Amino acid sequence: MRRSGLPESISRLIEELSKLPGIGEKNATRLAFHIFRSPKIYSENLAQAITDAKTKVILCNDCFNFASESPCEICSDENRDNFSICVVEEPLDQLAIEKSREFKGKYHVLHGVISPIEGVGPEDLKIKELLSRLEINEVKEVIVATNPSVEGEATALYLSKLIKPLGIEVSRIAHGIPMGGDIEYIDEITLGKAIRDRKHI
Ligand SMILES: [Zn+2]
Repeated sequence: MRRSGLPESISRLIEELSKLPGIGEKNATRLAFHIFRSPKIYSENLAQAITDAKTKVILCNDCFNFASESPCEICSDENRDNFSICVVEEPLDQLAIEKSREFKGKYHVLHGVISPIEGVGPEDLKIKELLSRLEINEVKEVIVATNPSVEGEATALYLSKLIKPLGIEVSRIAHGIPMGGDIEYIDEITLGKAIRDRKHI
């Protein structure tokens, strides 16, 4: 799109930035002007970082997380146990769980959840790959840590039906009410689960 009064290269930058999720044209324009006003070295570093992210990052062939080599650092870590696999939707979820330091097994990134509305079926996710990992490894438990959404729950149920017959335990992370949350405003799925998964105190 040609913007009147703007040099072609700035217009192009705005157009490319506005394609990023959640940015929109107004923010893209702000970012483009920021880049234009920044020192030259900043734009060079930014351009290089974008190119590197695309050319130097691969998916680990075992867990399908972003990695610089395959197997990734976690998959090749001999101090982690091979008996449990934590299944997550996206690489960022793996990072969040890793930060909690609660889990010492391996991960598996699905790259999405089953969502008929968005046309995402099981074949679009790394489910086949998860099953082949379970066949060749000594996994005893799969922890499904998909998000507590309708799609996340449906995906967890789908995985459980596939994995349980293999004689492997399938568990679901408990979803509680967030700290500082107000019961009145918690949706019913969360609240229902919070009550079902209640613990003795
Ligand atoms: Zn890996």
